[in-house]
Amino acid sequence: MAILVIAEHDNASLKAATLNTVSAAAQLGSEVHVLVAGANCAAAAAEAAKVAGVAKVRVADAAHYDSQTAENVAALVVAVVANEAAGYTHILAPSTANGKNVAPRVAALLDVAQISDIVAVESADTFVRPIYAGNAMATVKSDDAVKVMTVRTTAFEAAAMVANEGGAAAVEALGAAADLGLTSVKGRDLTKSERPELGAAKIIVSGGRGLGSGENYHKLLEPLADALGAALGASRAAVDAGYVPNDYQVGQTGKIVAPQLYIAVGISGAIQHLAGMKDSKVIVAINKDPEAPIFQVADYGLVGDLFEVVPELSQAVG
Ligand SMILES: Cc1cc2nc3c(=O)[nH]c(=O)nc-3n(C[C@H](O)[C@H](O)[C@H](O)COP(=O)(O)OP(=O)(O)OC[C@H]3O[C@@H](n4cnc5c(N)ncnc54)[C@H](O)[C@@H]3O)c2cc1C
Repeated sequence: MAILVIAEHDNASLKAATLNTVSAAAQLGSEVHVLVAGANCAAAAAEAAKVAGVAKVRVADAAHYDSQTAENVAALVVAVVANEAAGYTHILAPSTANGKNVAPRVAALLDVAQISDIVAVESADTFVRPIYAGNAMATVKSDDAVKVMTVRTTAFEAAAMVANEGGAAAVEALGAAADLGLTSVKGRDLTKSERPELGAAKIIVSGGRGLGSGENYHKLLEPLADALGAALGASRAAVDAGYVPNDYQVGQTGKIVAPQLYIAVGISGAIQHLAGMKDSKVIVAINKDPEAPIFQVADYGLVGDLFEVVPELSQAVG
């Protein structure tokens, strides 16, 4: 019996979300294996072998896994589960755009329910997950033979990296499944930024509709983020208005974050926004409306005009 974690990686290195997912897997009580499906992905596999708690890394290295299309990766996972003598009891992926693309396909192909966005492991078959945008926690028990789960990464500490060279876990090559040829990636427009990744940042400066325009967003928030070494985030209203691209969005339909410090500027604190950031360790809100709901979750609130206070704050911390 073992647990399979689907690694998130770019062939060269692991994404941080994989480390949190391994931590969740480690709580299930069986051996943890990590599946690295990619093309020329030996470096990512070697990194996975150094993650504490990982017993085995299984690598499917083939050209058609280069873009890790969900259809091909899901078919591979299902083939691995079917062929495995010991049997995988749990399949875990991070609750990221990538994980949420692959895991439901795996669950459907295995004809089991997906258990989404778990935040705690009670036992090998019982898990806690948020419902109603995080306003209630549901404890769910699954009787499925294979449990397919996505993991809310902010709810689990990142697994440590084992220091010794060569890695602690065995790395084992896996035969590739057939290329389904259902989808192909024509190109990727990736946001290139010197700033920390939103999902992994320790400090986030986030802007909302109160900023009024994309120009104001950049003019006011970038100096503050630069001074703090922070990532930039946004409310959905700011994204919908075109101030910033949608990968900046924090919230129920955006990214779930839990940094050490979250600074919400001109954000009202709608329930869907709070669902994505209310687990932040320290929340600072800047809003001109003292009744704004963001102040109910804020540790520090500043009632004032953001056009005055944000430049002052940037100067003070810069
Ligand atoms: C199904 C669904 C999913 C959603 N998912 C998300 C999500 O993932 N993330 C998300 O953020 N939203 C989400 N929303 C939208 C959410 O309901 C809100 O509409 C949105 O969060 C509001 O964004 P905002 O706070 O920037 O704008 P507003 O609610 O318009 O708030 C702007 C704030 O700026 C303040 N302000 C204005 N001018 C100034 C000034 N000069 N100085 C200081 N303060 C000022 C105002 O007082 C106000 O509080 C979702 C909605 C639905 C229905």
